[in-house]
Amino acid sequence: MKKSIITLFGLCFVTLTIAQNNVKIDGRLKPHLDTFFEYCKEYNIEYHDKLFELKNIDIVDTLYLTPKSSTLGMLTRDKNNNVENIVINWVVLLDEEILKVVAFHEFAHYFLEYEKHICDDCGKIMAVVNTSYFDIAKDWDNQVEILFKDSPILKKRKTVAFFNQKNRQSSLTN
Ligand SMILES: [Zn+2]
Repeated sequence: MKKSIITLFGLCFVTLTIAQNNVKIDGRLKPHLDTFFEYCKEYNIEYHDKLFELKNIDIVDTLYLTPKSSTLGMLTRDKNNNVENIVINWVVLLDEEILKVVAFHEFAHYFLEYEKHICDDCGKIMAVVNTSYFDIAKDWDNQVEILFKDSPILKKRKTVAFFNQKNRQSSLTN
């Protein structure tokens, strides 16, 4: 009996360790990810399970890079179209502010469910490109508030709450 309890504990421990090791996070992105998760907590957005569905959050040197246009970051998917990696172009390491904006942009695609961009170049974190990353960084708190408040994941929640409320109201009148 005692032995089987020990084995069970052993198994739980192993499973837990494997789960924790599943996602590899680049140390240079980790502080930004931690801050991003602080905001998620504030807005009551679940991120833990989603995090462990990923394989890597990484800085890579394989993304498109020319003097005129570059891919600064992207989500890569497996053959079933599930997001597998969040990758960021090494070139953004040249500037701490750009790194922060690009990291939040890519995290938001995945964790806040932004499937599309909100505009081409409108000076917001979720624009396709940004002429001035510096302007966004200067207005950071406000920018993050817009990013979270307008996020598809929160909008979806509001719509559900609205319909639930409507249903309740209609059942009251019936
Ligand atoms: Zn994007």
